[in-house]
Amino acid sequence: MKLPGNSSTDMQKSDYIRFFENLPEDLNPESCWIWKGTKNQDGRGRFQLRKKKWLASRLSWCILYGDLPEFIFLLHSCDRPECVNPFHLSPGNNSQNAIEARQRGQQITKLSYEGAVFIKNSDLSLTQLSLLFNVSLTTIRAIKQEKIWNF
Ligand SMILES: [Zn+2]
Repeated sequence: MKLPGNSSTDMQKSDYIRFFENLPEDLNPESCWIWKGTKNQDGRGRFQLRKKKWLASRLSWCILYGDLPEFIFLLHSCDRPECVNPFHLSPGNNSQNAIEARQRGQQITKLSYEGAVFIKNSDLSLTQLSLLFNVSLTTIRAIKQEKIWNF
C-alpha cells in the first residue's frame, strides 16, 4: 500500500516498519534519535530504499515534511551525525526554495482516507503514527477508536 504525501520517497508499509526498527523506542522530539542501523564512515545513518541509498536523517525529515530538492542539504542543530530526529534538522540552504519546499511538504502531509485506513490497521505505535502522518496523538487515537472517520 502506498502512503500519501511522500511521492519521492515512495515508501511502503514494509519500508516504514524497517525504518522504524532502526529508531530508538522513545521518539521524544526533544532528544536525539540515534540511528541503530548501518552507518557511513562519518557516522551518519544509512538506509537503502530499493535502488536508492538514503541518508537516514534526510529520509526521516522527508517522511515528516515531504519532498526536499536534491541540492538542499540538512544541517543538524545538535551536531550529532548519527541523529535522525527530523526536529533537529533544518535545510542548510536558507534560500526561498528551501522555505517553499518545507511549506509544500507540510501541505501534502494532510491526512487522506488511505492514510486513515493505514492508521486504523497499523501495528505501529501511536507516537510513530503521529510523527509519520504529522497529526496529533488525539487524532490518531480517535481514528483507532473509530470516533472520527467512517470506514
Ligand atoms: Zn539530535
